[in-house]
Amino acid sequence: MYSNGHRSGWIEIITGPMFSGKSEELIRRLKRAVIARQRVAVFKPSTDDRYDAVDIVSHSKQRFTAYPIEQAAEILEKVEVGTNVVGIDEAQFFGDELLDICEDMANRGLRVVIAGLDMDYLGTPFPPMPQLMAVAESITKLQAVCMRCGAPATRSQRLVLDEGQVLVGATESYEARCRFCFEEPTPRQQNGQTIASVVPPHADMNSEQKAT
Ligand code: ADP
Ligand code: MG
Ligand code: ZN
Repeated sequence: MYSNGHRSGWIEIITGPMFSGKSEELIRRLKRAVIARQRVAVFKPSTDDRYDAVDIVSHSKQRFTAYPIEQAAEILEKVEVGTNVVGIDEAQFFGDELLDICEDMANRGLRVVIAGLDMDYLGTPFPPMPQLMAVAESITKLQAVCMRCGAPATRSQRLVLDEGQVLVGATESYEARCRFCFEEPTPRQQNGQTIASVVPPHADMNSEQKAT
């Protein structure tokens, strides 16, 4: 399927909250790989069409052409012989199956560069990112700027009332916050009433879920 002639590849993780520059850093690394004449294949979830149906685009408008895919398994189908570098953006949306796929590619000699959220909007770890971080050769944890106090931000604060757990396509509905300024979304206020219930953070990867 693919091989770059090296005995083994590796996995690089770029993680942090929304607006921390994950896509920007992913694009920077991929552009450098192209300059180094590496063959690069890039993937993103097709549900994430915030800026463009095909390109991965950072909030600062950097872009790189990607395959929009629905399931992680499509990565193995689309990576061609001779590919050296595989980039994946918004990896938190691909579910647990992404782990084995990335391990497989790295074992076959590919450099796998993965960007994704470390935590969801509740501030809890967002699978499969923790698992990927455990097996990765390298992890870069980025911070945004807290929109409340200007400190380094590590959390993605959802600003709108409960609309289920997925709110893709709504970057205006989130802002970066530091640990101190982050307000746990529960119990939630809705229509002036406090709602005590909480949707389990990882109830079902396929149901509507999570901050992007
Ligand atoms: P991510 O992929 O982590 O969501 P992006 O790479 O898309 O982040 O965007 C990072 C860019 O977002 C920054 O370079 C900056 O221009 C912009 N930005 C907007 N809000 C913030 C913020 N609160 N903190 C840092 N950068 C921000
Ligand atoms: Mg991004
Ligand atoms: Zn703050």
